[in-house]
Amino acid sequence: MSIEDRIQQVERSIEAACLRSGRRREEIGIVAVTKYVSLERTKEAFRSGLRHLGENRWQDAEAKWRALDEDTREAAAEVKPVWHFIGSLQSRKAKDVVGKFDYIHSLDRLSLAEAIHKQAARLGTQVPCFIQVNVSGEESKHGIKPSELPTFLGELGAYPSIKPVGLMTMAPYEMEAEATRPVFRGLRELRDEARASGAAGEDFIHLSMGMSGDFEIAIEEGATWIRLGSILVGKEEDEQ
Ligand SMILES: *Cc1c(COP(=O)(O)O)cnc(C)c1O
Repeated sequence: MSIEDRIQQVERSIEAACLRSGRRREEIGIVAVTKYVSLERTKEAFRSGLRHLGENRWQDAEAKWRALDEDTREAAAEVKPVWHFIGSLQSRKAKDVVGKFDYIHSLDRLSLAEAIHKQAARLGTQVPCFIQVNVSGEESKHGIKPSELPTFLGELGAYPSIKPVGLMTMAPYEMEAEATRPVFRGLRELRDEARASGAAGEDFIHLSMGMSGDFEIAIEEGATWIRLGSILVGKEEDEQ
């Protein structure tokens, strides 16, 4: 299936989920996760109008990042890709990512916050970050515990080059889509509590949640960014 066809199909599902939950389509952004596909397919995705691109490892993302950066610079393009780093990030890799990725979705510890802050301060920039929360409680998942959020937000105050823009979570993979609902609802309630208590500021509005298998439920529960890989840009084997 072409990327255009995939986009249309996903759009229909997003619109249906919006209709079911009384939300507006504009409230939801799509991060097209290109980690499974080639540079060519990544370029095709961008040309097809998928402006927000997501990768989870710098080693794999670097060639794509550089190629698209060069293309858009050569063409003096007005529309540039917006890069989202969605994978777990080692502190020593923060210097590779900061300044190139526009958002980091996986802030899950203070040592990483410090590394991001240092590099951002060096570059004179501020990095919008999502705090990753392990709502499901699975041991294999990254993220702080929900109960740690208020303290973590307070401690982030020491790193002013980090701008906390919201929360990110992943639901257990093997779950039926419907079973993910409490995970997504939990993340939304956590954001709402953090805002209501004053632990988080005005900019703390986003919920990065929902992947190919569960984005419709995530939208119904308030997602503002969904991260779509296989359903939207496909996997390498679909390219043939
Ligand atoms: C791979 C990945 C995605 C996209 O996965 P699909 O199920 O293919 O949509 C989303 N978020 C994160 C953090 C990922 O690592």
